[in-house]
Amino acid sequence: AAFGDLSSRLTETFRNLRTKGKLSAADVDGTVREIRRALLDADVALEVVKDFASKVRERALGDEVNKALNPAQQVVQIVNEELVSILGGEQRRLQFAKTPPTVIMLAGLQGSGKTTFAGKLAKMLEKDGHTPLLVAADLQRPNAVNQLQVVAERAGAAIFAPEPGNGVGDPVKVSKAGVEYARQKLHDIVIIDTAGRLGVDAELMTQASDIRRATDPDEVLFVIDAMTGQDAVNTARAFQEGVGFTGVVLSKLDGDTRGGAALSVASVTGRPIIFASTGEGLDDVEAFHPDRMASRILDLGDILTLIEQAQQAFDEEEAKKVAEKLAKEQFTLDDFLEQMQQLKKMGSMKKMLGMLPGMGQMKQQLDDFDEREIDRTEAIIRSMTPAERQNTKILNGSRRARIARGSGMTVTDVNQLVNRFEQAAKMMKTVARGGTPNIPGMGAM
Ligand code: GDP
Repeated sequence: AAFGDLSSRLTETFRNLRTKGKLSAADVDGTVREIRRALLDADVALEVVKDFASKVRERALGDEVNKALNPAQQVVQIVNEELVSILGGEQRRLQFAKTPPTVIMLAGLQGSGKTTFAGKLAKMLEKDGHTPLLVAADLQRPNAVNQLQVVAERAGAAIFAPEPGNGVGDPVKVSKAGVEYARQKLHDIVIIDTAGRLGVDAELMTQASDIRRATDPDEVLFVIDAMTGQDAVNTARAFQEGVGFTGVVLSKLDGDTRGGAALSVASVTGRPIIFASTGEGLDDVEAFHPDRMASRILDLGDILTLIEQAQQAFDEEEAKKVAEKLAKEQFTLDDFLEQMQQLKKMGSMKKMLGMLPGMGQMKQQLDDFDEREIDRTEAIIRSMTPAERQNTKILNGSRRARIARGSGMTVTDVNQLVNRFEQAAKMMKTVARGGTPNIPGMGAM
């Protein structure tokens, strides 16, 4: 999905911060460096990355983090806020004219998704009770008018197209006539689909700019394919200088895109992203919300709360002790028991796991998770002798049978516990090193 790589890279970066208490300048630098790399690899424009990284760094080294109860959490919050900001800040809605018709002009390269978006927009507006008119001003591509006709029909919208021999070839005249027609027939919105080229060229810009001047649109929406890499910024700049636009439509966000265009365009041009297109169907479109997009990219879930809880449960002293024991390979079943009680302290395990991002599909497993598991584990360990707790290797068949009897469990339960203990030793090692626990049976998180 869009932003998949970027998302996992950023989440990974924050995971490494999670169990740290106070952050040193080196921690901050390391984190900012990781974020920088992740953004560049996602094709975000260099100037945007530089600006973003320096803002995050400055804030992360400042008082707001220094004085925060939970520095790691504060850093995640800063990254989130700065991300919302480069995505345009507040959500921006479509602006309508005081006196109808509202004129909306679409501009962008050929293949960017203009015609498809024209149909999507018409359908959306119709649902809201408007009566949009689609105007075919793309007279460049032989099939363009035809394509808009098909789209209009699917959207159930009216269309204004030049009749053969009557002004064909002059998109400016057609656009003007379209707006006039809308006024007469009481269409309250006009959507003008203009021509695109495969690359930016002067003639295209002049034509689009002439249409803009002739129709005085309330909105000029620049449609850009989210899959465009570093080029997106140059294209956007060229359109901004050549035609000018009031808002951006990101198309093809459903593709396997690295998302750089999306993250660059609003901040480079200073124009808000108003819509995101997410498929070929006419319903595959949504209003763009910078804050929601940022949370999606950061896979935020309730990651902030999680950081807080993890830090409370595994305080530094504890982690150090465990790390030392692990280093000397002295992590025993007694420590295991203690750690399970720590987990209990974190509150309901189920609730905690539910807060992890991406746990939606694991709902069934979560529902099956039984908190009493911890009590049963405790019973088994309490039935062991100190020597057995120190060294599970001496647990032969008759010892296991005795422990099972003593705790009221089966030998299979005892065997499972011993296996789980070994996995848990690995998990504690990860935690001690500042990573995320891989809870047995829950898969990698
Ligand atoms: P135009 O030349 O700018 O008018 O672009 P079109 O609207 O003709 O779109 C070009 C191609 O991209 C067509 O095959 C569309 O079906 C496809 N397309 C448009 N928008 C999207 C989108 O949001 N997602 C996907 N996957 N394809 C899209």
